[in-house]
Amino acid sequence: APGRHADLLADLNPAQREAVTHAGGPLLVVAGAGSGKTRVLTRRIAYLLAQRGVHPGEIMAITFTNKAAAEMRERVGELVGRRANAMWVSTFHSMCVRLLRREAKTLDMSSNFSIYDSDDTRRLVTLVARDLDIDAKRYPARALAVHISNHKNELTGPEDATAKASNDLERRVAEVYTEYQRRLRLANAFDFDDLIMRTVELFQAFPDVAEHYRRRFRHVLVDEYQDTNHAQYTLVRELAGTERTESGVEPAELCVVGDADQSIYAFRGATIRNIEEFERDFPDARTILLEQNYRSTQTILSAANAVIARNPNRRDKRLWTDSGDGEKIGVYVADNEHDEAAFVAGEIDALVDQGEVKYSDVAVFYRTNNQSRVFEEIFIRLGLPYRVVGGVRFYERREVRDALAYLRVLANPEDTVSLRRVLNVPKRGIGDRAEAVVATHAERERISFAAALRDAVAGKVALLNPRSQKAIAGFVELLDGLIELVDGGAEVADVLEAVLERTGYRTELEESDDPQDASRVDNLTELVTVAREFAEQAAELGPLTEDVDAGAPEPGSLPAFLERVSLVADADSIPSPDSEEEEEEDAGVVTLMTVHTAKGLEYPVVFCTGWEDGVFPHLRALGEPAELAEERRLAYVAITRARQRLYLSRAITRSAWGQPMTNPASRFFDEVPADLLDWRREEPAAESSFGSPRAATTWGRRSRFGEDSAQAGLAARGMRTTPVKGWQNTVALKLDVGDRVNHDKYGLGTVVEASGEGPRATATIDFGSAGKVKLMLIGSVPMVKL
Ligand code: ATP
Ligand code: MG
Repeated sequence: APGRHADLLADLNPAQREAVTHAGGPLLVVAGAGSGKTRVLTRRIAYLLAQRGVHPGEIMAITFTNKAAAEMRERVGELVGRRANAMWVSTFHSMCVRLLRREAKTLDMSSNFSIYDSDDTRRLVTLVARDLDIDAKRYPARALAVHISNHKNELTGPEDATAKASNDLERRVAEVYTEYQRRLRLANAFDFDDLIMRTVELFQAFPDVAEHYRRRFRHVLVDEYQDTNHAQYTLVRELAGTERTESGVEPAELCVVGDADQSIYAFRGATIRNIEEFERDFPDARTILLEQNYRSTQTILSAANAVIARNPNRRDKRLWTDSGDGEKIGVYVADNEHDEAAFVAGEIDALVDQGEVKYSDVAVFYRTNNQSRVFEEIFIRLGLPYRVVGGVRFYERREVRDALAYLRVLANPEDTVSLRRVLNVPKRGIGDRAEAVVATHAERERISFAAALRDAVAGKVALLNPRSQKAIAGFVELLDGLIELVDGGAEVADVLEAVLERTGYRTELEESDDPQDASRVDNLTELVTVAREFAEQAAELGPLTEDVDAGAPEPGSLPAFLERVSLVADADSIPSPDSEEEEEEDAGVVTLMTVHTAKGLEYPVVFCTGWEDGVFPHLRALGEPAELAEERRLAYVAITRARQRLYLSRAITRSAWGQPMTNPASRFFDEVPADLLDWRREEPAAESSFGSPRAATTWGRRSRFGEDSAQAGLAARGMRTTPVKGWQNTVALKLDVGDRVNHDKYGLGTVVEASGEGPRATATIDFGSAGKVKLMLIGSVPMVKL
C-alpha cells in the first residue's frame, strides 16, 4: 500500500533517504541538476505525513511555478490520498496572497485587494511620475518601475530609499516610490513585489501574527531555493523562525533544496547569496549533498559539468551517473535560422519515424521568445504538432485586460488603475480633461479616485462641466448595477457577460470595421469560457472545509477567479508528461519554450538552439563577467534538461530587427569537450563565407545522412524548403480554407474561413497562439501564402 515506510524510502539512495528522514534542525540540500532534489522534497512531505504523524495543515511547501505546485500536490496525493489537499503547496506569490487576504486588516488594507502586474505597475508609475512633474524622457516609467522593484526585492521601503538616496536619480526614484506606495494603498492594491515585501513586513511588525503561523506551519519546504531573492529568503526565515519565541514556539523544521549553478533570475534580484545567508543565519543547519544524477546520460552530464566548470567562484560538485554514455551530442551549424529550424524539424521527424520517440518527448529551447517564430513556421509546414509556451499571452491582450479591469473594479472599487483604465472604455463621454479634473480633486482631498467620482456625481467637484458630470453619473450607476449582480451571488461568467453587454463593449467591437476587432470578440468569448470552466472546477472541488484554507477566497468567487488569472505564469501551461490530455493523443506535441521556462523539467530529447555569441550568451552579457556567468548557468540548465539525446545548433546568419546579422559561434561550444560531439554539419570553409552565395557552402564531412539531410527529408514530403523571402505586400491575395500563410505580425496561420471577391475578399485566419484574426485581403497585407 502506498505510504508505507519501506515504499517511501525504497527507491532512494542513502543521501536522499537521509534528507527525507532528517528530523529537527534546518536542512539544506544543495545538489546538481537531476540529482533528485524535487523528488526528495515530495517524498519528504509524504514521509512526514505517513511516518511522522504530521498533519497536512502543518505543511507549507513552496515551488517556483503554480504548475509545479499542482504536480507536487498530486504526487503527494498519490502517496497519501485526499489528505494532501489540506497542505499549502504554492508559489511564493500565491502563498503571500493567501496570507495577505487573511491579514489585510492588520496592514490597514481590505481583503478584496487587487494584485497589480507589471503592466498595471507601469501605468501607476506613469501616473505618479506625471503628477510629480518628472521628466519622462530622463526618467522613463519603465526604468523607474525597475528601480522600485529592486528596492522591494531588497526589502528597502520608501523611507529607507529616501534616506539612502545619494544622487539625482536615486532621489527621483525615492520620490516616485513613496508616492507610488501611497497610491497603491489608496487603490487597495499590492503589486507583485509588494506581495512578498508586505508579508515580510507583516511578520516583522506583528510578532503575534508571525507566531500564529509558526505555530501552524511546523514544516516549511522550498524547492528551487537558488532562485529566491533576498525578500523571499527573509520571508522563509520569518515564517520558520530561527529561535524559540517567548511563548515557547520552536522554529519550524525547514528544508530547502537548490543548486547554485542553476540560479538564473539574478535580473530579478535572486542571488546565490541566499545560500550563503542560509548558512550564516542557520549555523546548525545540516547540509546534504546529492551526487548521483538519475536524469541524463554520462555524455550529457559531462558536457554540462564542463560548461559550468568555467564559472568562477563556485563550489565544485562531483555529479555522476551509472546510466552509460548514450548518444553523442548532435551539433549542427546552419546557414541561417530557417536552415536551423529545418534541421530540428527534420531530426524530430526522423526520430519519430524510427519509432524512437514520441513528439511529447521532445523539447526545443531558445534564449528569447521571439526565436520561436521560425520553428513554428517550419513545424506548421511539416505538420509537426507543437505547442509554444509563453510568447504573446492571452491575458496580456488589450480586450482581455479591459474585461478583467472591469471585474477588478467590481471586486475592489478602490482599484484606481483598473478604474481609470475602463473609465472611458468604451467611449462614454468622459474625456481626458474630466479625468484629470477628478484626479486632481482626489489628490487634493486625499481620497481614492472612486470616491472622487462619487463626489463628481454629487456636484462637489469644481470645474467639471455638466456633460461630463452626467456621463460620470451614468458610469457610476452602471458599476453599481454590476456590483449588485456580484453581491447577489452571480457566477463570474455571468458577471462577465453582463459587463460586456451593459457597457456596450462587445457591441462596439461587433460593429467595428476593423477586422482585428472580430478576433477581439473571439478572445472575449474565450475569456467567458475560461470563467465557465473555472466555476465547474470549483463546483467539483466543493466547499472548503479545513480552516487552514480560510485565507483563500471562496472557490468559484470573483476574487478567486481574479487571483487565478493574476498569478498564471508561462510555465503553468506546459502539459505534464503523464496528463490525460497526453494519453489521449498518444504521440503528444513537441514543446517549444525559452530556457528560463524549462527550469525543473526534463525531456528525453532536447534541442538547444541559437548557440551564438550575441544570442546565447545574450548580447548584453558579452563583456560583462557577472552576466556571462548567469548565461552559463542558463546553458547548464538547458543541457541538463535532456535525458537521452541532446542537440546543439547555431546559425551563421540570423535576422534581428529585420537585418541579417552574422554571429560567431557561442563561446559555450568551445567549453564542451570535443569528443562528446557528433558534428552533423560543420562551419563551411572560411573562403566560402565571404562574397559567395550561401548555397555554395560546403557540408560537414561527418554529416550522418549525407548531404542536405534535413532539407532532403522535407523535399521527400513534397514540402517547399526555401525560406519565405521577406514580407511581400500582396494585392488581392487569393486564399482558400486550409491555406497556410505567414503574416508579418501574427506569424504563421491557417485559413479557417474565406469569403468575398476582389476588394471585398476577407479571410479569417487562425494564428495559433496569436489568436484568430479576420483580415481584408486587398491592399498591402504584410502576409504571404505558403
Ligand atoms: P533539477 O535540478 O533539474 O530541478 P532535481 O534535482 O530536482 O533536478 P528530480 O527532478 O527530482 O531532480 O529528479 C530527476 C530525475 O531523476 C527524475 O526523473 C526523478 O524521478 C529521477 N530520480 C531521482 N532520484 C531517483 C532515484 N533514487 N532512483 C531513480 N530515479 C530517481
Ligand atoms: Mg527539481
